Amino acid sequence: MLPKALTIAGSDSGGGAGIQADLKTFQELNVFGMSAITAITAQNTIGVQGVFPVDLKGVEQQITSVMDDIGTDAVKTGMLLNRDIIEIVSEKADHYRWPYLVVDPVMISTSGSKLLHEEAMDALIHKLIPKATIITPNIPEAKVITGMNLSTFEDRKSAVKELHKLGPQAVLLKGGHEENSDHIVDILFDGETFYYFTVPKINTIHTHGTGCTYAAAITANLAKGLPLTKAIHEAKSFIHLAIVHGFSLGEGPGPTNHSA
Ligand code: PLP
Repeated sequence: MLPKALTIAGSDSGGGAGIQADLKTFQELNVFGMSAITAITAQNTIGVQGVFPVDLKGVEQQITSVMDDIGTDAVKTGMLLNRDIIEIVSEKADHYRWPYLVVDPVMISTSGSKLLHEEAMDALIHKLIPKATIITPNIPEAKVITGMNLSTFEDRKSAVKELHKLGPQAVLLKGGHEENSDHIVDILFDGETFYYFTVPKINTIHTHGTGCTYAAAITANLAKGLPLTKAIHEAKSFIHLAIVHGFSLGEGPGPTNHSA
């Protein structure tokens, strides 16, 4: 039977990030994709023109409807927008005891729009992150969560350890925002061992949806039953190719290519 994965995230009308990126990625990796939409964004390659939250009952009911009939092998969270939505997702995580929960702590879009309210940070850190199989912050998100300065590689390793103390089983710090290197190094820590995933940096502006796509690929690979390091290794190859084949669309920076 096809493995199944549920994404709880925001809709990107432009099709590059959010729910759309997650479902395209699940499909490419032969995983049956399902969704619970937290907010609708009116978005294109230029930016986010509007954010329209789904009401709480609607978020709750989407998750319940999927879980009570279909069930899932893994769950990914992306844009959660506010504290109430995070609390609902956290309650559902307790209730359904998902085999794998990938938390991508989405905060701000590359174009600068807020995808998580500041008042929601506490709930993200104390209610959802502790329940995660893995969290996948990028460098700016890790800075916000830890309050640490992440200039050096050693700083990043310390931040990963601090993030692990919040309670997730593993932390993957994505190095894609590194500016002073021709390589990207993602750091994984599972509480015992550090692992490093290194690829050459690609010079492109077409990276919209990279974070969502990478976390969705990890989720799909976990749903298939791959061990964590292999799930990340294969997802890293997937996102690397998707960025290599990123393309121009509209007037702004284009998306990564999910079907590369
Ligand atoms: N829009 C939605 C709905 C998202 O979930 C995300 C990312 O997680 C983004 C936009 C941000 O995408 P990017 O920063 O790649 O533009």
